[in-house]
Amino acid sequence: MSEFDVIVIGGGSTGTAVARDCAMRGFQTLLLERGDIASATVGTCAGMISSGLKYMDEPEIVDMCSDEVVHLNRIARHLIMKNPILTPMLKMSDLSTGGNFAEEYSKRAKEREVPPVLFLTPEDSIKIEPKLNPEIIASMYFEEFFIDPFRFCLLQALDAARNDAIIRTYCEVTDILTDENGVTGVEFYNRLEGKIETENAKIIVNAAGPWVPRIAGLAEATAEIRPNKGAHVIFDRRIVNVGIIARALDGRMIYLFPHENTSLLGTTALDTWEDPDILVASQDEIEYLIKSMEWVVPSLREARIIRTMEGVRPLIADWKKPEGEVTRGYEILDHDAEGVEGLISFTGGKLVMCRHMAEAATDLVAEKLGTNTECKTHLRPLPGNEDDIDILSLSKEYKVSQHALERMRARRGTEMQKVLKLLNENPSWRTTVCTCEPVIEAEVRYAIQEEFPQTLDDLRRRLRLGTGPCQATFCTYKAAAIMADEMDLSGTQFQLEVLDYLAERWKGKRPPLRDVSISQEEVLQGAYACVGNLDHEEIDYRKKPWEEVR
Ligand SMILES: Cc1cc2nc3c(=O)[nH]c(=O)nc-3n(C[C@H](O)[C@H](O)[C@H](O)COP(=O)(O)OP(=O)(O)OC[C@H]3O[C@@H](n4cnc5c(N)ncnc54)[C@H](O)[C@@H]3O)c2cc1C
Repeated sequence: MSEFDVIVIGGGSTGTAVARDCAMRGFQTLLLERGDIASATVGTCAGMISSGLKYMDEPEIVDMCSDEVVHLNRIARHLIMKNPILTPMLKMSDLSTGGNFAEEYSKRAKEREVPPVLFLTPEDSIKIEPKLNPEIIASMYFEEFFIDPFRFCLLQALDAARNDAIIRTYCEVTDILTDENGVTGVEFYNRLEGKIETENAKIIVNAAGPWVPRIAGLAEATAEIRPNKGAHVIFDRRIVNVGIIARALDGRMIYLFPHENTSLLGTTALDTWEDPDILVASQDEIEYLIKSMEWVVPSLREARIIRTMEGVRPLIADWKKPEGEVTRGYEILDHDAEGVEGLISFTGGKLVMCRHMAEAATDLVAEKLGTNTECKTHLRPLPGNEDDIDILSLSKEYKVSQHALERMRARRGTEMQKVLKLLNENPSWRTTVCTCEPVIEAEVRYAIQEEFPQTLDDLRRRLRLGTGPCQATFCTYKAAAIMADEMDLSGTQFQLEVLDYLAERWKGKRPPLRDVSISQEEVLQGAYACVGNLDHEEIDYRKKPWEEVR
């Protein structure tokens, strides 16, 4: 057994950023994630890499977020979308708050390469977004950036691996090993092979999001958070041309953002003591969001909801105040102070600041290891961000539609050429597997070969497979067949993949199920249970190794 310099626990935005920074500074790094990369909180977020202006009374956070937007636009440009945003105003008092925001926002707008805030008349606002309530008295126009959280975390993990880190998914840390000098390593359950393993390290970084307190507790250390539930409602298409930010029924700010080829309505923010693993959006949350946004987009209720998405923000444990007043900054806990030498935990933070969080933690790791190293994560591009891509000529050369290639570029930038080269040997891999996104067979095969997915749900995170209007009705069989071929799955494993994936999709579809979604669900269940014969009793549900052991 080798000894690592650092073991990072958690493969969300924070953990993958730490692994990348540690590996780039030359530390022997191992990242352990109990599920897939980005399979928890970060995968439920809106992906907004905002200038931090929601937190205007915390100027250091506004500065940090503004800097991070600039860095992310340098290193991950291909994963970033710029969204215009309108904040419609329904009464005069909204104008004064808007004025303060406009002044702060505009200060650093040039650096972020966005125009300063504009105030628009109702007529101009409705020209930009015809679905707005005609009774608005004005609106504020500004621009913010959004990133694909799944690809961002995956690319951080892949970049860490290219710098010699070892990334292991489906490895759940079950104990932190210590001796009289502090931490010595971890024990973990390898869910793929169904066995307990241990690895040694000098430093352990606990980046387990809402599970940070549980991980710290394994070493008898303390890390408290204020767990805060957030839910989104997802619509089947881009129902607005621009993002809308508005006051909710209770005065909080909520948003409706076009996101990839869907729209996100969010978010709630509730103190929660529910298990983050079994969280669902409640009917109250769904209705609160719709009723609140209906004031400014009156036709919203007619749009088709495809699912909800919910997660727990691991906020800093600041109590006895409304959650909205809790800082969105982060803290790094050095557990040396309580006698657990070598254990570092995060509380708080956001996706947009994950690189900054990682830099601060890696500086501490370097200090503990007694080395003097420099952070380069804000300078070096993530894989695929090295150059521009000429979609038109690639479309002509490889005979793949420009639309499919645009979507592929948004996932992989220059590395899409590696996918397209597969077509030279395998021309039939042009077939479209997921028509909503769209995704072609070559990309599914490439992702399986190069991006270590273990399940169809992991492929969803790599490719946005099954996330569109049909919610996996038409792509699941095709993708499972490709996976069976690439990974040499047995017939039973193939069936289990399909069933597991559909069950996972069902979790988010169930809370808002109504109207036409019910008919669509019937088509899906009919297709898989009846035509696909997947509801027969003989399937051995215990064929996966971890089920046999537990
Ligand atoms: C609804 C919502 C909307 C949000 N919107 C935004 C936004 O627009 N912009 C923004 O900047 N931020 C946003 N945030 C905040 C942001 O998503 C989180 O702060 C951030 O993603 C947390 O990332 P993380 O890596 O710390 O946690 P996670 O993503 O939860 O990662 C922790 C990982 O640790 C793993 N883990 C847990 N226990 C173990 C174990 N025993 N062994 C191994 N691995 C383990 C988990 O499986 C998980 O993958 C939002 C949050 C929510 C809930």
